[in-house]
Amino acid sequence: MKSAKELQALLYKNETVADQAPEQIAKAAEFCEGYKRFLDNGKTEREVTKYSEELLKKAGYKPFVAGQTLNPGDKIYKINRAKCVLAATIGTKSIAEGFHLNIAHIDSPRLDLRPVPLFEKEGIAYFRTHYYGGIRKYQWPTIPLAIHGVVCRQDGSSVEISIGEAENDPVFTITDLLPHLGSQQNEKKLPDAITGENLNVLLGSLPIEEKDASDRIKLRVLGLLNEAYGISEADFTTAEIEIVPAFKARDIGLDRSMIGAYGHDDRVDAYPALMAEIENKNPAYTTVCVLTDKEETGSDGVTGLNSMYTFHFLQQLCACQNVDAITAFQASKCLSADVTAAYDPSFADVFEPCNGTYAGRGVAIYKYTGARGKSSTNDASAEMVSYLTSLMRRNGIVWQIGEMGKIDVGGGGTVAKYVANQDIDTIDIGVPVLSMHSPFEVVSKADVYMAYLTFKAFGEDAE
Ligand code: MN
Ligand code: MN
Repeated sequence: MKSAKELQALLYKNETVADQAPEQIAKAAEFCEGYKRFLDNGKTEREVTKYSEELLKKAGYKPFVAGQTLNPGDKIYKINRAKCVLAATIGTKSIAEGFHLNIAHIDSPRLDLRPVPLFEKEGIAYFRTHYYGGIRKYQWPTIPLAIHGVVCRQDGSSVEISIGEAENDPVFTITDLLPHLGSQQNEKKLPDAITGENLNVLLGSLPIEEKDASDRIKLRVLGLLNEAYGISEADFTTAEIEIVPAFKARDIGLDRSMIGAYGHDDRVDAYPALMAEIENKNPAYTTVCVLTDKEETGSDGVTGLNSMYTFHFLQQLCACQNVDAITAFQASKCLSADVTAAYDPSFADVFEPCNGTYAGRGVAIYKYTGARGKSSTNDASAEMVSYLTSLMRRNGIVWQIGEMGKIDVGGGGTVAKYVANQDIDTIDIGVPVLSMHSPFEVVSKADVYMAYLTFKAFGEDAE
C-alpha cells in the first residue's frame, strides 16, 4: 500500500482559487472592472447586444455577409434581430474540422409590461407587469426599479426608453404591506404572499389640473411619456418595455472579492466569452461566440437557442468554405456557459456539500443539469469532460465539478441540449451564483476570471 501522503494525493480536492492560484486574484479584480461596466451598460438583451456590437466593431469585426470569402484570422459578426450576438474568428484549419463554440445567454429574469399596462387606482398611477423567467415574486417589491425598452411608434419610427439609471433620474418601485397589517399575508406560503397581480409599478400621484376629467393621474403620466417619447397608450401594444433593478454593479465584502449586481445570470458568462472571442487572434479552429436571448423562458422563439438561427449561421459559414455542415457539426465542440447555484451556507439543507459548487473555487463544470432522473438534459460524455478538464489543467485554470443541489430538491436546464441535439459535442460550464434569479445576485470575481481563462484556452486550443 502507498503511504498516507501518496494516498492523499489521489483525492479530489475542491479548493479555492485564492489557495490554488493566488497570483490570479489581482488579475481577476482588474478583469471584473470591465465586467461591471458591461453590466451597467446592458440590463436587457437589446442593450447587451448593442454594447457588445460596439466592442466587436472596435476590435475590427466586420458584419458577416453570406457567401463572402473567409480567410484565417478574419473576424466577423452577425446580430440576430437586435437581441443576439454571433461573433467568429476564422481558424487556420478548414471549418470541416469543426467549430469551437462558446455560448451564453444575455436575457435575465425581470418584469415586462403587459400590452395595456397603464392604470390609475385610488390616487396612484401604475404599470401592470408580467414577469419574465423564473422570479421569486416576493423579492421584487420595495427595491428601486428602472424602466428600459423600445417602443415602435405608429409612424414607423421607434424610440428607446431608459429611466432610472442616471443619477438625477426618478426611479420606480413596487409596494409591500407594512408588518403592522401583514398578519394575514404572513400566513400565506412564500410563493403566494406576493402574486403576479401584486407586481404593479408605482408611476405617479399627481393629477392634471382640470378637475372634471377622469383618470387625472393616469393622464398626467401619459402626458409626461408623450412629451418625452412621443408615445400614446396604444403604442404600448407595439413596445417591449422591461422593469429591472435600478442599482449598479457593486463590489461586495470588505475584501471586495465578490460583485453584487442584477443580471449575472448569464452576463457573467457572456462577458468572459465575448472577451475571449475578441482577444483570440489566430485560432486553429474557427471560434464562434454566441450570446443568445430567451434562455430564461425556455429558449423558444426566433431569438432562442431552440430556433435554427445559430445553426443557420454556422451552416452559412460552412458554405463560404464549401464545407459540408454535417461534417463540421460532428467535429465541433461547444462550451454551453450558464450560471450554476453556488453552495449557500445559510441554506445548507438543500445542497449536497461533496457535489456542491462554491463561489470562489473556480469555474464550475456540470456534466448534466435537468431534474429527477436527469430528464431533459445534455449529459456530456466522459470523453468530453476529460477533454475539458485536461485543457483546464494544461492552462492552470481552477475548476470544480458538481450538481445544483440535493437530488429531487429541484433542478434546472440550460441551452446545452439544443446544441447537442444538433450533433455537436457540448458540455455545461459556468460561474456559481449566490441568490440566483434575485434582483441582486452575487458572484466571486475569481470565478469570473476562471471562466474567461477557460473560454480563452478553448479558443486557442489547437489539438
Ligand atoms: Mn442562465
Ligand atoms: Mn437563469
